[in-house]
Amino acid sequence: MTKYIFITGGVISSLGKGIASASIGRVLESRGLKVTLMKCDPYINVDPGTMNPYQHGEVYVTGDGAETDLDLGHYERFTNAKITKFNNVTTGQVYNSVISKERQGKYLGSTIQVIPHITNEIKERVKKVAKVSGADVVLVEIGGTVGDIESLPFLEAARQFRLDVGYNNALYIHLTLVPYIKVADEIKTKPTQHSVGTLREIGIQPDILICRTEKPLSDNIKEKISLFCNVRKEAVIEAPDVESIYRIPLVFKNQCLDEIILSHFNLICKYSDLKSWEKNVVNRTLEPKINVKIAVVGKYIGLQDAYKSIYEALIHGGIANDAHIEIKKVDSEDIEKAGAAKFLDDVSGILVPGGFGMRGIEGKIKAINFARTKNIPFLGICLGMQCAVIEFSRNVCGLKNANSTEFSKKTAYPVISLLEEQKNIKDMGGTMRLGSYPCKIKKGTLAFKAYKKQLILERHRHRYEFNNKYRRQLEKNGIIFSGIYKNKDLVEIVELKDHPYFIAGQFHPEFQSKPDKPHPLFRDFIAAAARFQKAKRP
Ligand code: GLN
Repeated sequence: MTKYIFITGGVISSLGKGIASASIGRVLESRGLKVTLMKCDPYINVDPGTMNPYQHGEVYVTGDGAETDLDLGHYERFTNAKITKFNNVTTGQVYNSVISKERQGKYLGSTIQVIPHITNEIKERVKKVAKVSGADVVLVEIGGTVGDIESLPFLEAARQFRLDVGYNNALYIHLTLVPYIKVADEIKTKPTQHSVGTLREIGIQPDILICRTEKPLSDNIKEKISLFCNVRKEAVIEAPDVESIYRIPLVFKNQCLDEIILSHFNLICKYSDLKSWEKNVVNRTLEPKINVKIAVVGKYIGLQDAYKSIYEALIHGGIANDAHIEIKKVDSEDIEKAGAAKFLDDVSGILVPGGFGMRGIEGKIKAINFARTKNIPFLGICLGMQCAVIEFSRNVCGLKNANSTEFSKKTAYPVISLLEEQKNIKDMGGTMRLGSYPCKIKKGTLAFKAYKKQLILERHRHRYEFNNKYRRQLEKNGIIFSGIYKNKDLVEIVELKDHPYFIAGQFHPEFQSKPDKPHPLFRDFIAAAARFQKAKRP
């Protein structure tokens, strides 16, 4: 019988529900259970693919090509769960499907209502994930904060779930904030009491509380929370601020969160202490031997969440090299105004991430020019690869004003352009080149050195491609096309010959990097940056 854990959030948003869910997943996995995680997002968009990163943060792409919430990235980084398009459910998807079923006459005779039609659709989607994944435990994170109008149908579906599957097969965890009030020098439990009160009005009595807190929770505070919220004292779990998110599974484990969950489910599992996670991930993150400064040159650098997977993958590359990564976030528009040297002459590696639209492009191109001409290690991702091609075409091949047709329809040298099949697409949602595609790697290249094999799979999210018309000309001038998607002869990886480390991919390697399995391109990028730093910035 599959077990279900519903994770809700209270008091405020941004408490790290996604990381908490992923950490619980990790702790349970270490006990030998197969877990999967899913996210219910209360917005009406079908997926976040059409949202501005400032609204939503990064769009995480699954192997099967779904554009999803960034929390799914945490799920994949912390656990071995195979996350697919079914693992992110939005209000938009749910209504879309209920309304089309209504039009097909599937509910003939009925008035379609939130309860039971919408809630049934939600529950079916949760059960579908259970079935498709074959997991022992399905963790369902419900987006938003308890008390929001939007998330009510999801909470109602979660409430009903226990009736459907039986008391011991469903568990409710509520993540809440226990604030410290400086002037009073006191920790306050009232917001948590109110939040749990609101949950109870909906009919959900949480079994476990995870309390985000700046200060340690005393026994008294735990007792108070336990009493007022009707949760056993040992199930009041403390979640302090930590130096690394990868420590959170250990924090939970030390408070026996896994035991509490297993005993609710009546499950007996082998014991495990998470020692290898502690040794290979946590200790290596917290006890680095060197510090490496990397610039990320983008246009959404003001928002921590916009390049989430990139920042994490850099940290993973750091773990592989026992390096602490100091990330310097550089706004590409600042480079346009003041030049690259002002922002980049103290860094040992430059990364240009993906993106859309014209704004900030010229700054990214300047940053890449700086990396190429100053021999600074460079990693380009998606748009970063396209900009690297533009920079090289303009400044090495003499193709004046070469550009992508995304930014200049009339450029004389469209080195990046649309494939025929993309030209007739009108709908914006879910119509890019999405998900995993195979790529053949050329031997004797940086790419081959990294992957150590000839066939790789990487995830994509883009419309534009390298224009093969310019392949020979660029090659003659020293670009190596080291990765090709054979079926359509598309360029996937470019690199430079006479440069210590200059490589860029049309795909998003950051989506497959894990703290205990750093992505080879990030690993080698950081290694090159560490070498550069030792030689040039002692
Ligand atoms: N805007 C570019 C394209 O659509 C790059 C996309 C990206 O960086 N994810 O091809």
